[in-house]
Amino acid sequence: MAIPFVDLKIQYEELKEEITQRIQNVLNHSQFILGPEVKELEEKLKEFVGSPYALTCSNGTDALLMALMACDIQPGDEVITTPFSFIATAETISLLKAVPVFVDIDPQTYNINPSAIEKAITPKTKAIIPVSLYGQPAEMDDIQQISQQHNLTVIEDGAQSFGATYKKRRSGNLSPLATTSFFPAKPFGCYGDGGAIFCSDSETYEKLHQIRNHGQGKVRYEHIRLGMNGRMNTLQCAILLAKFPHYPQDLELRQKAADYYLKNLEELSFKEKIQLPYVKPHCSSAWAQFTIQVPNRPSFQSFLKEKGIPTAVHYPKLMSDQPSIQNHPFKALDLSIAKQVCEKVVSLPIYAQIPQTHQDKVIESIYEYFKTHS
Ligand SMILES: *Cc1c(COP(=O)(O)O)cnc(C)c1O
Repeated sequence: MAIPFVDLKIQYEELKEEITQRIQNVLNHSQFILGPEVKELEEKLKEFVGSPYALTCSNGTDALLMALMACDIQPGDEVITTPFSFIATAETISLLKAVPVFVDIDPQTYNINPSAIEKAITPKTKAIIPVSLYGQPAEMDDIQQISQQHNLTVIEDGAQSFGATYKKRRSGNLSPLATTSFFPAKPFGCYGDGGAIFCSDSETYEKLHQIRNHGQGKVRYEHIRLGMNGRMNTLQCAILLAKFPHYPQDLELRQKAADYYLKNLEELSFKEKIQLPYVKPHCSSAWAQFTIQVPNRPSFQSFLKEKGIPTAVHYPKLMSDQPSIQNHPFKALDLSIAKQVCEKVVSLPIYAQIPQTHQDKVIESIYEYFKTHS
């Protein structure tokens, strides 16, 4: 019997009544765009993350795009980021005709290496986008310090890390600007597309608010800056409101599932067959992915597939090697660690409600693989 990589139906069944009630409320008032649930969700997000301002938006990609627009990123401006992320991180920089500058990652957390950032700064550098990959925040204090020395903006791409902490502060509240995604398979997912932007000052919030609605100012049909349709729809906000009270427990369950893998795969890591995920002592992860490194990924993946176990690769190609990025101005510094890592990473099934029997099957199959493939 095959097991799923992510199963969203288990939680839906558990929360069916609350979700249905929330959806019904929206259908009854029929304010499908910018209805009362939008503001209600934003208040909850703000409170949960601890950020002074939160703005929902269409998705995690538009969140990045709008955050960059709010920083007035211009063509030719340089934005330093990691090469090892989902394409949206760099794509949004290139869409604005700015220049993504890729620097290497940390070999244990896979997040951007702060000392590599420092070496990449030029007079054209305007911003840094660290990604909190697989759910663990990047080394944000070091990054903040560098940004302050050089007068740069930091935008945390927290699409995978909603709820994670860094020195007891939540992802989204670790830099002047941060974004997240509510794509269904992310740790906190709605039932379609959605996202949010967090910021720390009222001026940026006002700007983002305008950008989200075609640059409209206080007066309807007065458009004072270029913007877009970047709104999150009311129904999706309603679904997240139903899920919100349960999210702290989801985070605990994800941690529990990760701990179970960590404990039971430890022996293979001691024997240096695999590299397990590493979460720093001052961080907690939202465990968007449970990603290990294996020496021979194609054979590992096909062995597990035969056993009915799906795996995924986040990500098989560096963004700096993607044609879409290469067709526009970009810079790549030394990326030797990122290059090695992207050949070896493989993600195992993980979600809050993953049955332990499924995890046992994954673990047993991995041991079996290494028994037969030394
Ligand atoms: C998912 C993801 C995004 C994009 O989010 P969408 O809501 O799918 O647009 C951006 N950055 C990272 C790191 C992601 O994982």
